[in-house]
Amino acid sequence: MAVDLHLHSTFSDGSATPAEIVAIASDLGLSGIALTDHDTLEGLPDAAAAAERAGLRFIGGTELSVLWREQSMHLLVYCLEPGPGLIEEQLAILRRGRNARNEHIVELLRGLGIDITYADVLSEAGGGVVGRPHFAGVLVNKGIVTSVAEAFDRFLAQGRPAYAPRQRLAAEEAIAYARATGAVPVIAHPHTLNLRADEYADGFAELVDRGLGGIESFYAEYSPELRQRLASICSELGIVATGGSDYHGKYKPQLQVGIGNGDLRVPDEAFDRLLAAR
Ligand code: AMP
Ligand code: ZN
Ligand code: FE
Ligand code: FE
Repeated sequence: MAVDLHLHSTFSDGSATPAEIVAIASDLGLSGIALTDHDTLEGLPDAAAAAERAGLRFIGGTELSVLWREQSMHLLVYCLEPGPGLIEEQLAILRRGRNARNEHIVELLRGLGIDITYADVLSEAGGGVVGRPHFAGVLVNKGIVTSVAEAFDRFLAQGRPAYAPRQRLAAEEAIAYARATGAVPVIAHPHTLNLRADEYADGFAELVDRGLGGIESFYAEYSPELRQRLASICSELGIVATGGSDYHGKYKPQLQVGIGNGDLRVPDEAFDRLLAAR
């Protein structure tokens, strides 16, 4: 059996509801999932209820963008319960920073002569936490680009003309908040860090000392060799090798629940190891 511990729903920048994701996971025969919407815990109750009805094990999570060595790092935080508390307070601050950044992106796009309003973007997001994929969706709908990927390449990616940064926690800070609430912080898709493969182990060891609980080793874009190498680094560091598809529905059409590009398989053990790492 396999699991998928990195999934985005309509509560952030995915296009499938938590119940739809659970249905796909269940049809695939996965044994468990984690929902990891950006900066929100709002989808967790729906996902937990749907998972329970389908007989799937469930972990509540979120994905944060943090700063580490002056670079952007994504941190998955697992074993979270929705509701008021330290993490929810921090998430609310991050969502406010995100909203300010989003309004800035609208201005930048308008400055490029594109007829877009924040209302268009809110409508695309349908009530979920608004992210750049929703801007990409609006640009596709308006016929300005033909794909989400083109929207990022031309406008939204870092270094492109409508890129605007948003507020982030330091990695060490976010790890401390996660541990203070009994959650498990895990580095997401470490290839997005500007580290050479031979620098991974040292870089990660520094964060393990601060409370890091795992590394997303089983990731669609990685070769089987890199997945295994990351998993070995995790065993050496005594942390959990996690993994997931980073499913976003129509916003990342190549990635499917459970199997990523087709060859992903995240071992079952990752689920219990995460729970044990609390
Ligand atoms: P945000 O958190 O609003 O800055 O948006 C970040 C999200 O945009 C990431 O989590 C990805 O889902 C998505 N994203 C980033 N770069 C790309 C890209 N080049 N193509 C498609 N989606 C991307
Ligand atoms: Zn996303
Ligand atoms: Fe990410
Ligand atoms: Fe993600």
